Amino acid sequence: MPATRQVSAADLDKSDPLAPKREAFHIPDGVIYLDGNSLGCLPKAAVARMNEVVANEWGESLIRGWNDHAWIDMPARLGNRIAKLIGAAPGTVVAADSTSVNLAKALTAALEMRENPNVILSDTGNFPADLYMAQGLIRGLGRGHKLRLVAPEEVEAAIDETVAVLMLTEVDYRTGRRHNMARLTEKAHEAGAVALWDLAHSAGALPVDVGGAGADFAIGCTYKYLNAGPGAPAFIYVRPNHLGHVEPFLSGWMGHEAPFDFDPRYRPAPGPERMTVGTPPILGLSALDAALDVWEGVDMGEVRAKSMALGDLFIQEVEERCGGYGLKLGSPRDAEARGSQVSFHAENGYPIMQALIGEGVIGDFRAPDLMRFGFAPLYLRYQDVVDAVAILECILRTELWREPRFQVRAKVT
Ligand SMILES: *Cc1c(COP(=O)(O)O)cnc(C)c1O
Repeated sequence: MPATRQVSAADLDKSDPLAPKREAFHIPDGVIYLDGNSLGCLPKAAVARMNEVVANEWGESLIRGWNDHAWIDMPARLGNRIAKLIGAAPGTVVAADSTSVNLAKALTAALEMRENPNVILSDTGNFPADLYMAQGLIRGLGRGHKLRLVAPEEVEAAIDETVAVLMLTEVDYRTGRRHNMARLTEKAHEAGAVALWDLAHSAGALPVDVGGAGADFAIGCTYKYLNAGPGAPAFIYVRPNHLGHVEPFLSGWMGHEAPFDFDPRYRPAPGPERMTVGTPPILGLSALDAALDVWEGVDMGEVRAKSMALGDLFIQEVEERCGGYGLKLGSPRDAEARGSQVSFHAENGYPIMQALIGEGVIGDFRAPDLMRFGFAPLYLRYQDVVDAVAILECILRTELWREPRFQVRAKVT
């Protein structure tokens, strides 16, 4: 039998086509960052851009900046940049508001397209932000809509003609489980339902094709895998054939056809700008612009291949080295069925994660018992994965996590 030679992490890093991208980021000394699914690392270019925008554009141009630096066009211009990363046509995406607010905008627009069916179908793994928005909107609209939640595996079978809107997050924030967007969208359409996708854990993590899948609406986040900074503006996509008749319930003046006509009557803009509401946050959008520069020329196929390999390596290392400590895989073992994160159940997951963070390996914790690790292929190395697991193994072996300082629950976990 031929000897199977395992390729070392160092060799994998040497042949990694994405390796040079790491240089574009500031990675703090002594940190292995496995939380790019929550808040991406700082792109170095964002520092210079923010300084420039604050000191020169804001400082010197003041109100003239809206025209002189085309601030007013940033939501649509950056929307077009994001469109390329999610398989959307030009002129279908804007960068605006938060993911939560964009969900509310998309969901109300989607519900308006359906007269009779009254069910919003989602799954129990969806992020609470989305479910809460749906609950509040149902109350506010007062049209008797119902939120129906089923297990992620049961979504497909639950799509029937009572469903007005299928509202799903493609990649589960806890387990990383990935829905089949194209198939479920097709099922939704067969039942006459509108399909709304949250791409919070997809954009920048894996190839997305909202156009090809026929999604009606999509929303997503830019501070996770797109690295645009804490609370950065989110995005919203509207399928081209809906753009002309979507009536935004947040009928903001920035979504007006001609905001500076100051016409008392609302008339929506013809393009995706109609999904914007108020004055765009130029500082946040500028950081997003710089963060998107890093994605120029990046092959999403390479991102996906590396993401799957990093996740597989992590699972293999944890099970080999930490198998005796009661950690249990909480993510699909098959990389195809995962997004770009891996979670492990652990009885003492919270203090173990705090001890890990104390040792420079940053992941996060999701109640009740999930230790969550994100793999951002643009700046992570295979060696980081091996080193992180070595530190985890040491913490488990020495029971460092038992120290009282690791038991204190912070506000953000
Ligand atoms: C991260 C995330 C959000 C965050 O929404 P914000 O409005 O930015 O707080 C919403 N939905 C999902 C599915 C997420 O993963």
